[in-house]
Amino acid sequence: MNSLADIKAMDLADPIASFRERFHLPDGIIYLDGNSLGPAPKSVFDEMQKAIHEEWANGLIRSWNKAGWFDLPGTLGAMIAKLVGANSNEVIVTDNTSSNIFKTLFAALSLRPDRKTIVAEQGSFPTDLYIAQGVQSVRPDLILKLEGRDADRIEDLLDDDTAVVLINQVDYRTGELRNMSEVTNAAHDCGAIVVWDLCHSAGIYPVDLNGSNADMAIGCSYKYLNGGPGAPAFVFCAERHANAVSQPLSGWWGHAKPFAFQTDFEPLGGVGKFASGTQPILSLRAMKAGLEVACEADMNEVRAKSMALTDLFIELVEAKCAGHGVELVSPRDAARRGSQASFSHENGYAIVQAMIDRGVIGDFRRPNIMRFGFAPLYISYEDVWRSAEIMQDILENRTWDQPHFRAENAVT
Ligand SMILES: *Cc1c(COP(=O)(O)O)cnc(C)c1O
Repeated sequence: MNSLADIKAMDLADPIASFRERFHLPDGIIYLDGNSLGPAPKSVFDEMQKAIHEEWANGLIRSWNKAGWFDLPGTLGAMIAKLVGANSNEVIVTDNTSSNIFKTLFAALSLRPDRKTIVAEQGSFPTDLYIAQGVQSVRPDLILKLEGRDADRIEDLLDDDTAVVLINQVDYRTGELRNMSEVTNAAHDCGAIVVWDLCHSAGIYPVDLNGSNADMAIGCSYKYLNGGPGAPAFVFCAERHANAVSQPLSGWWGHAKPFAFQTDFEPLGGVGKFASGTQPILSLRAMKAGLEVACEADMNEVRAKSMALTDLFIELVEAKCAGHGVELVSPRDAARRGSQASFSHENGYAIVQAMIDRGVIGDFRRPNIMRFGFAPLYISYEDVWRSAEIMQDILENRTWDQPHFRAENAVT
């Protein structure tokens, strides 16, 4: 097993170690929850100061033009495009992931009007399913089929009635990574459209939307893109579909001439039609700081470190915590895993709370999963070592076995 000296050497040899200085990481905290809410980039303090003082307070309404506010969905979208293998005109930042799922499902249906089936995953992040059910509530003729309920493999649910497949690239609980090209090809062979949910892959994996011939995608920016709490989400629509698709939340921000104030809706060409109404400008301004950092990183280096960090954590936890009932839930093969390592334990919630109390912030997902996200831009190998040591200590001393660690908060 690696010694602490080996681990410090890994940090010294890490080609992306210097990115850590770009983030505000509170003293005494090892932050393994960037897959839920990324930390603040240091540059965001000045960005927000500028956005509020110069642009809002002094610039007032002139800032829509002068400070580029009106163009932010497109300019930030172009930055995300670089990170996910898309062209700059194929991504916009707008609204939240849930509403973007609604819009893209309808957009996919608009391309396949004679088909009635939506295929998704039972193990999906629930909002994806809730939104698919919401789509069904206004289109009761639609059928929803789920991998894990109606068949074991998504490929077995595809047929000539499949209009759209809604699928996560990385499973939020287990961290399992899907092969984007394989699933996309299988869906295309049946004539279906695929909507990829990139919430747990954008920013930690070299997503290659165009290289995989993807149709549409959505994702959030407050996780590994460090855009800030409630930062808006993004939509990708491949150029080959962008003019043909329509979506029903046809607001004025998606209009070809918003300031012509016409009676009838006339969509913008391209992905811009996925915007609906006025966007949260201060949130977009904060998000810019996070994206600037991510865009400087080489996603292949990020991926290499992500695999090494999660491999190391799994190795250390299994060595140090053996015999305490902790079981790996994530794929053992790093090539099939996103940037998290999840372990099950019947007292997982209390263990995570006890770890947080010791400064190691991970999270818990029902029914029994302890989830630890390793964001390569600011997590070091030494952080991994210390986290595993703290977990070992908590398990050996049963520190977690106290009522205040068992009491569940509203947000887990
Ligand atoms: C985090 C996450 C979401 C969040 O959706 P919001 O609308 O931003 O609340 C959606 N889907 C997946 C897969 C997620 O991980």
